[in-house]
Amino acid sequence: MRTLVIEHPLVAHKLTALRDVASDTATFRSLTAELVTLLAYEATRELPVQPVLVETPVGTARGVKLARPVPLIVPVLRAGIGMLEGMTRLLPMADVGFVGLRRDEESLIASTYANRLPADLTGRDTFVLDPMLATGGTLATVVGLLVDRGAASVTAICLLAAPEGLHHLGQSYAGDEGPSVRVVTAAVDERLNERGYIVPGLGDAGDRLFGQI
Ligand code: URA
Repeated sequence: MRTLVIEHPLVAHKLTALRDVASDTATFRSLTAELVTLLAYEATRELPVQPVLVETPVGTARGVKLARPVPLIVPVLRAGIGMLEGMTRLLPMADVGFVGLRRDEESLIASTYANRLPADLTGRDTFVLDPMLATGGTLATVVGLLVDRGAASVTAICLLAAPEGLHHLGQSYAGDEGPSVRVVTAAVDERLNERGYIVPGLGDAGDRLFGQI
């Protein structure tokens, strides 16, 4: 498994504002969309393209278009939904699947309550949207669902990651066999606290995006 931490002044600036406890829901949502678009720009760098010719007003130019099959984006319910707009801005042609996992607050173990994914993902590049890579349990389960369906690659886009979660995922997807598994994130924070929150983190991403319901 590879980890790509995007070091860029705009990413760092927006992440700092996102962390700020004083940022309200509207600000948090728009910052999330902007940050995801910046992360997605790097995360899609390896997408395959095919050559095409295009007629310009003055001649013929060689160009490319994204190869088929189109990528699949998978926001993890609920907080991942807040990242979808920022991602589809760059990949409007992509398909979108959904996965919902619930984390037991005591054991921190995740179980699946919603799964709307194509049965066959052979040859498809997939992008999982989950803002917080905490213990890694949720992400390892979602990556497993995609790998089992034959995905060519799985790239998780996370606003923040904890070392514990990266370690967990790295152990599950070590080695060169199987599809490429990557995490693209704006920062790797210090640690998890006893409640499984990333420290210093940004709090509960779902609550900050959608309110405490
Ligand atoms: N989920 C969150 O929303 N925040 C954390 O810090 C960890 C998991």
